[in-house]
Amino acid sequence: MPTFSPASGAGPSMSVDAHLERVLAGVAPLGRVEQVPLADASGRLLAASVDARVDLPGFDNSAMDGYAVRRADVATGTPLHPVVLDVVADVPAGSDADPIIGPGQAARIMTGAPIPDGTDAVVPIEQTDGGTARVSIGAVPQAGHHIRHRGEDLHAGDRLLEAGVVLDARRIAAAAAAGLADLPVAVPPRVAVVATGSELVEPGGPLARGRIHDSNSLLLAALVAEAGGVVSERLRLPDDPELLRDWIGGREPCDLVVFAGGISVGAHDVVRHVLADLGTVDFARVAMQPGKPQAFGTLPGGTPVFGLPGNPVSVAVSFEAFVRPALQRLLGRHDVLRPTWPVVVETGWHSPARRRQYMPIALTVRHGRVLVHPASPGGAGSHLAARLAAADGFAIVPEHVVEVAAGDLVEVVVTR
Ligand code: AMP
Ligand code: MG
Repeated sequence: MPTFSPASGAGPSMSVDAHLERVLAGVAPLGRVEQVPLADASGRLLAASVDARVDLPGFDNSAMDGYAVRRADVATGTPLHPVVLDVVADVPAGSDADPIIGPGQAARIMTGAPIPDGTDAVVPIEQTDGGTARVSIGAVPQAGHHIRHRGEDLHAGDRLLEAGVVLDARRIAAAAAAGLADLPVAVPPRVAVVATGSELVEPGGPLARGRIHDSNSLLLAALVAEAGGVVSERLRLPDDPELLRDWIGGREPCDLVVFAGGISVGAHDVVRHVLADLGTVDFARVAMQPGKPQAFGTLPGGTPVFGLPGNPVSVAVSFEAFVRPALQRLLGRHDVLRPTWPVVVETGWHSPARRRQYMPIALTVRHGRVLVHPASPGGAGSHLAARLAAADGFAIVPEHVVEVAAGDLVEVVVTR
């Protein structure tokens, strides 16, 4: 097995913000747009603002099951002396009937049915005797009571959704209600994820001495999908520079490549070795924990490439800090970082000086208050792959903080 001289590729010390700036300068929005049916739009990024096609509601309609009346007719009704009206029409939802309701008359009407001309209020069935030929009404409705008015939600031509939002159930439903059948969305970036390490075995495969199951390729593939990308290839490569070079040369077309493992200063860190030879990849020791060694640059042909450290927690943190923002930029999003929220610390922990710490955390609610504690009682150990399963996100502890104490506020990014 080839070995390489250490250290040369380790790169200069750098802040998280400086490395992120370098990453974001190296990726541009792909600008590819496709039109998709609403049923396929969940999770996609809206590429252009869209307006309502129809008024919402499209016509004045009843908000209750009851009787459409002329208010003047029932103005004298009381529970003891109800007014009696002739029921001359029955208007269920979906009915295109357009009955004329004259003085002394009412229409039985159901929720969502169009309000007949001449009527100006709906009396809920509960305030009547429920009659079908004649109805007794002992309550006086206010003008327009229980009528939903045309356009009160939105008018045709009004802005419905702004470009750049992620389509979710509520936005897709609003688009359907407003008359749209499909939406323009960003074509997702294609991302190749490559786990490297001669110790890696496929998930579930038999483990010889020194071997481990590859979790990083699955972690990265799922993170890419969660961030709005599609995985063009997911593979494992041993620490063999020839195989790595071959893969780089013959890879499927993609918009981003993410390597995990092999970028540090170890004797078999082939990703560092091979990428350093290209001359188009920067290596840095980023002032963060975990995730210190980082690589970013381009492959021949100009495809942006990340080299992330191989410990699973480092992969998850590096993805959150650098890869996810790059993917958001490729997608065309303006806000590439997730929001952080200040949360009260339940049980404290240590943080290294002069490094930004990304602590996997879990959230709990106690006595009506949201509290945060490390997801793993063992702390930030970057190899603790199984403990990642308990994490709701990361606490981001600033560089100058060395002690996070119970009762402190920390900024938390929620990843669930
Ligand atoms: P490296 O960055 O290659 O030095 O790897 C750091 C640590 O992460 C080592 O303990 C590796 O065995 C482990 N590791 C590397 N790749 C993976 C992977 N795909 N899945 C799980 N653990 C990994
Ligand atoms: Mg390795």
